[in-house]
Amino acid sequence: MTTRIGVLALQGAFAEHVAALRAVGAEPVEIRLPVQLEDVDGLVIPGGESTTMRRLIARWGLRQPILDLAASGAPVFGTCAGMIVLARDIVGGEEPVLPLLDVTVERNAFGRQLDSFEAELDVPLLGSTPVHAVFIRAPIIERVGPDVDVLARLPGGRIVAVRQGNVVATSFHPELAGETRFHRLVATMAAEHAEPGEGSGREPDLAGLQQRGR
Ligand code: GLN
Repeated sequence: MTTRIGVLALQGAFAEHVAALRAVGAEPVEIRLPVQLEDVDGLVIPGGESTTMRRLIARWGLRQPILDLAASGAPVFGTCAGMIVLARDIVGGEEPVLPLLDVTVERNAFGRQLDSFEAELDVPLLGSTPVHAVFIRAPIIERVGPDVDVLARLPGGRIVAVRQGNVVATSFHPELAGETRFHRLVATMAAEHAEPGEGSGREPDLAGLQQRGR
């Protein structure tokens, strides 16, 4: 059975995530209402504007249903603004939205001169081919808690991708560069969540993921 993965479609760059999920063989489901979360095994929170997303998540009653989905063990993947939405702490003291990730993020951390840029990143979890990462008014991860794995850093050492159990987040937009390995990872985790015991147990099949490469 195809794995159904929700893409929060309130605002921002959700269409590209829909396409990336389709490309890895998952069935994307655009999420605008809580009831739509009942039938998915994972969720992607896209980039966009986190202040707007915060308002819309509250307005449409999506906060608790998303927290419940994450608590069930389903994977949640946030990119850029989506990562800010998932952070437990935000520099400057903004209230967290869905504090599922024990990190501190700083919004718009690269300032005006470096508003947008692209970089080749080493992400060992995804294999040896570097990830082409697009950063757009991107946040940076300033602090990671003890249960958080760092998946990628910029050449200067700043942390830009993390995983804490079933929650994955990137400062950048893999979906804008045709990079689908994060989506494949999330689809693999979602399939494991839907049918535990198939394959290698609770851990996703990362060896297979690495062999398949890009
Ligand atoms: N700067 C945006 C914010 O703080 C994030 C930008 C993005 O998602 N590309 O919400």
